[in-house]
Amino acid sequence: MEKGNPYIPIPVKVERIRVESDDKTLRSFDLSFCNPKQRFDFLPGQFCQLSVLSKGEAPFGIASSPTEEKFLRFTVNRVGVVTTALHYLKEGEIIGLRGPLGNYYPVDKFKGKNVVIIGGGFAFTTLRSLAVYIFAHRNDFNEVSIIYGARRPGLLLYRDELAEWEKRDDVNLYLTVDREFPGWDKRVGFVPTVTKEVKPSPVDAYAVVCGPPIMIKWTTDNDKIYPPGSI
Ligand SMILES: Cc1cc2nc3c(=O)[nH]c(=O)nc-3n(C[C@H](O)[C@H](O)[C@H](O)COP(=O)(O)OP(=O)(O)OC[C@H]3O[C@@H](n4cnc5c(N)ncnc54)[C@H](O)[C@@H]3O)c2cc1C
Repeated sequence: MEKGNPYIPIPVKVERIRVESDDKTLRSFDLSFCNPKQRFDFLPGQFCQLSVLSKGEAPFGIASSPTEEKFLRFTVNRVGVVTTALHYLKEGEIIGLRGPLGNYYPVDKFKGKNVVIIGGGFAFTTLRSLAVYIFAHRNDFNEVSIIYGARRPGLLLYRDELAEWEKRDDVNLYLTVDREFPGWDKRVGFVPTVTKEVKPSPVDAYAVVCGPPIMIKWTTDNDKIYPPGSI
């Protein structure tokens, strides 16, 4: 595998587009390298810059796992110029990508430990990368818990995969939405509240939290979830 310059965009092909949310504001793009020699190593948590000619470039977390070698996945929330241009792409089109950039989750430190993954909204992208990576090396990790919430069921990403993960007996998966919805028979409540309810053990554990700042604030406020003296 070549070690390319992450500051030079390389061409990637849109192999598969998938609408993730019921309001169509979230789409996932599976990209392949036009030149397989330009494939690069990365770890869960890193991001890339995606560019569309004459529109610009923007950063997106890598939603696929390094263990999924056939494609790189990005899930894009449509908010402005670049994200709208990405949403208008068709399968087969070529865009620019540079990366991998940024820090990664220290997966080596997680080995032999319990791992708690806590996500809210579409920030779940790099947490999916982490979860799939952990599943691919499942024996390296101890107990794995995932708490993932969205405002409503139609905004939960990767719903088919979540349904598969629910069937696994080697992960504790807790899905939640902000309020009751017809047909929703799982948890209801904000992510910090559900974290407090299910109370994953902090003993010998690493927690990875990614979501809106307010969710992170109340989730990592340990005094609320684990009152002093309780652990
Ligand atoms: C490390 C990192 C990772 C990220 N990962 C992801 C990811 O995985 N998925 C994802 O969806 N996003 C991700 N983001 C956010 C993403 O990069 C931004 O949403 C993106 O840069 C927006 O680009 P844009 O050109 O579409 O928006 P812009 O056109 O630059 O607009 C940005 C904001 O300004 C507002 N705006 C635009 N035009 C106007 C106007 N005329 N008046 C008022 N407001 C306006 C838009 O509504 C929008 O909220 C990440 C960001 C970072 C830094």
